[in-house]
Amino acid sequence: MERWICAFCGPTGEKRTKEHLWPASLHRRVVALLDGGEQKFWLARLDRALPNEPTIRDVCAICNNGELSKLDSYICEAFDRYFSIIRERGEQVTLDYDYHLLKRWLLKMSYNSARISGSDVPVFQPLIPYILGQNTSGGRTVRLFLDMTYPSNMPAEERQAGLPAIVRPEINRVGFLGYNAPTGSKVLRAVHLRSFSFLLAFLPSAANATSVQAFVAEFLSCRPSARELRASISRVTLSCNGIDCWESIKSGMAHRIDFKRA
Ligand SMILES: [Zn+2]
Repeated sequence: MERWICAFCGPTGEKRTKEHLWPASLHRRVVALLDGGEQKFWLARLDRALPNEPTIRDVCAICNNGELSKLDSYICEAFDRYFSIIRERGEQVTLDYDYHLLKRWLLKMSYNSARISGSDVPVFQPLIPYILGQNTSGGRTVRLFLDMTYPSNMPAEERQAGLPAIVRPEINRVGFLGYNAPTGSKVLRAVHLRSFSFLLAFLPSAANATSVQAFVAEFLSCRPSARELRASISRVTLSCNGIDCWESIKSGMAHRIDFKRA
């Protein structure tokens, strides 16, 4: 049997699977929530503006149908309970979460996205055992934050045919979020599940507790509406006030980071 390298478990003779970036079970849920009129029209336009996400063919059937599919199941349940509902600006939002299932799924999505776009794949190599649920300590260098994306009133000068007057976070997106800190501009990975924007910060494995705390404090002072999610806590409450939906979509289209050149 042909041997090849599974992106998660390494050399294998198992069957390859073929998947889109977004799990079909989750994609179906998003599509089911779109109304048939204005939204569908404009999202179809947006879809054409965003680069096509090709399929992933480097994950074996054991990984894909085993541990990784458990993570997808968790996210689909959370989607039905929380992410399906689009939040208004200023609304108080409470999320109950399983820290490790949530973070492992977010890392899986980010790793898949990195392989598709040929970006920072090596960052994820040390995290694979954690993503597969083989340990919980491996994820320690990744800090997780939640910020909320609110619907945007389209500025009059940007209104054009086919765009709704209010742009709501209808779709799921994966990308980056940049912010300016006193110590320079920084970039976090972002996975947006409609109104919920999960932000992942990758810290050096050698970072000590003091420097990690300093990073978290600086990030939260730059983005006061965000909250850190932690393994010891399973509920977070925050105000939907962090990210302007239209600005976020535009910056996602305009600036895709080229890691090969950096
Ligand atoms: Zn595998």
